[in-house]
Amino acid sequence: MRELFSAALDGELSELDQARLDAHLAACAGCLAYAETTAGASTLLRQTPLEELTVPIVVPGRRLAVARKLQVAAAAAAVAATVGLSAAVSTIEHPASSHAASRSAAPSAKLRFPDQELRMLQRASQARSHPHLAL
Ligand SMILES: [Zn+2]
Repeated sequence: MRELFSAALDGELSELDQARLDAHLAACAGCLAYAETTAGASTLLRQTPLEELTVPIVVPGRRLAVARKLQVAAAAAAVAATVGLSAAVSTIEHPASSHAASRSAAPSAKLRFPDQELRMLQRASQARSHPHLAL
């Protein structure tokens, strides 16, 4: 009987089935309560306005490729900033007048993953000069 009611909500019930449903609901308190609850929820759902998204949904494609290139560029900029900062810090920590030996060792010690950072920089510069090969 609940399948009948579900169909009735969707407007898919034949006249005969609708009559059977009405007759049953008139005699069965349990189904009537179910019918009222379900009808209420269904009406509420249909009346609720669609939620407006604040963030647009972008289908992956050309735009994603552009976003990835921007990420690579941002990563390269971050690495460049880190390297520049380490150089500045090592200059501050080791003024030109003192510690000549430790000064020459300092820059490489500050780069924790020099190979990785070099590869990132190379990839970033490739992305800039050959955009079609970057992805
Ligand atoms: Zn019933």
